[in-house]
Amino acid sequence: MDSTRGEFALIERFFKERGIKRADVPISVGDDAAILAPPANSHLAVTTDTMVSGVHFDAHTPIDALGHKLAAVNLSDLAAMGAEPAWASLALTLPDFDETWLDQFSRGLIETLDYHHCSLIGGDITRGPLTLTLTVHGFVPKDRYLLRSGAQPGDRIYVSGTLGDAALALALQQDKLSVACDISVREALNERLFRPTPRVMLGTLIRNQANSAIDLSDGLAGDLKHILTASKVGARIDLGLLPRSDAFAASVSLEQGWPYQLVGGDDYELCFTVPEGRRGAFETISRQAGVAVTAIGVIEREPGLRFIHAGKEIQCDHLSYSHF
Ligand SMILES: [Mg+2]
Repeated sequence: MDSTRGEFALIERFFKERGIKRADVPISVGDDAAILAPPANSHLAVTTDTMVSGVHFDAHTPIDALGHKLAAVNLSDLAAMGAEPAWASLALTLPDFDETWLDQFSRGLIETLDYHHCSLIGGDITRGPLTLTLTVHGFVPKDRYLLRSGAQPGDRIYVSGTLGDAALALALQQDKLSVACDISVREALNERLFRPTPRVMLGTLIRNQANSAIDLSDGLAGDLKHILTASKVGARIDLGLLPRSDAFAASVSLEQGWPYQLVGGDDYELCFTVPEGRRGAFETISRQAGVAVTAIGVIEREPGLRFIHAGKEIQCDHLSYSHF
């Protein structure tokens, strides 16, 4: 890490001395490179996400939530591959060296990494416009990773948790929508925007039953299309089945909610497909994941994504995307 002496001490305090120490990291933060001991019979899954100030977050976001979210969006990508998190590497670009900021950011980041038994193994800090980048590494048993490309006609499509909360929170924050809801509802929605929950346990539990998976970062419609394209299939989604949180249902009607659920993004839930013959085993095992899963549609042979509600086809173009 490139810094003066005082800054170096702070980095040691906030990033090296905090967090769990895994046994498979003989050498971590503090030398020229980390030395890692990957397990035998596993594949390594690696992903990187960057969050840029003014693009991915603004001044409304609590600083510890920035650390949490940076970890969560990366862990969510590992979850979508069925991988268990192990190691993380951080690159920070900061306009100035603010001790309070670093303290709060590192708390949020490391609490979330710790929760998923992921060690911070190194990184770099430079000066410039506020930009946060994290690379996470995880393990998946050999040839047992989940891809976007395995869906087959007849498979059931599932999503975890609820959809649309984060996008609704953002619309309310930016005054693109005004809803008379009480403060606890606003807080519940903001929590989903600021502190998404990566579905790491679910991702590892469904490795044997799911045949395709993706995490929902850009919104269900766009992300599911990645599965459809990679798997060369189509799908039908029943809009009435899209899972809604209590806070979401208290704020918008069913139809008002669809744009947030379909194209809003920032959900960090998993979307995956399960063949009919594995649904029983899947529904049993998914109960261990501590998050509800909801069947929302079915994979079809005919390409394209179709929406139905109350038995009738709904044209996607007719959904109101005006908020976005
Ligand atoms: Mg992803």
